[in-house]
Amino acid sequence: MRLGIISALLEEQAGLVEAMRGAARVTHGMREYVAGQLWEIDAVCVLSRIGKVAAAMTATTLVEKFGVTHILFTGVAGAGDKTVNVGDIVIAESLVQHDMDASPLFPRFEVPLTGRTHFPPDQPLSMRLSQAAHDFLELDFLDAISEGERQTFRLAQPRVHRGLVASGDQFLNDVDRLDALNGALPGLVAVEMEGAAVAQVCHELGVPCAVIRAISDNANEHAATDFMRFVKSVAAQYAFHITRRLCRDLGQAPLQPRSDSAGT
Ligand code: SAH
Repeated sequence: MRLGIISALLEEQAGLVEAMRGAARVTHGMREYVAGQLWEIDAVCVLSRIGKVAAAMTATTLVEKFGVTHILFTGVAGAGDKTVNVGDIVIAESLVQHDMDASPLFPRFEVPLTGRTHFPPDQPLSMRLSQAAHDFLELDFLDAISEGERQTFRLAQPRVHRGLVASGDQFLNDVDRLDALNGALPGLVAVEMEGAAVAQVCHELGVPCAVIRAISDNANEHAATDFMRFVKSVAAQYAFHITRRLCRDLGQAPLQPRSDSAGT
């Protein structure tokens, strides 16, 4: 396998490139792709920048030019529901583009001419990722995140949630908008700006993907400040340790090849 690892921002991936062995850098389409050995597996790390188009471009390039067989998106997100707190981890069970609306020609949220509103990530990869996230919280969390940071962010007992992740080209910092989205999208656990674009690309190219997000803010009027603080101090720790656990696990017990071949 060759795992493509995308984050929007450097802070969401800091440390991974430094951990790579035999890193080779290639600049293409205004992004730097770094390929090498990451713990037990072959990987390519890249920063997509923010938004759906940037993420779609990056995912497509990873597959078409760098030959990745799987894609992981790791980053931060706003909480999509009141049961989800800052510091919790969300793993996408399904992804939707919340700003897609070609109604009345197509149902709201449907990506025209695909017949789909929701795009599924790969189950087996998401299960492995979920295990890595649980292990991070259980085994690494207290060492990786200092007591001061735990107090600052009120990270008492972070949890792992699986559910719907909604992406759109908007930073959500308005409770009313969030409530409306939450009402329109049952099972919503996180809002962000890239995941569903990657999921659509991967669905169309038949490449398994998974999306993980650490919750940085509550998508309310404090979101911008909370986001900045979280990204600056703890986001990289989450991404680094979870990715390390995932890579080791995938190296030791490779995923079985998929039986279906959607998109190929
Ligand atoms: N002003 C910031 C912009 C960050 S956009 C800057 O200059 O860096 C927020 C990024 O984090 C996006 O990549 C998105 O995927 C994620 N994100 C975190 N909280 C979010 C929220 N409340 N709404 C939308 N995206 C959010």
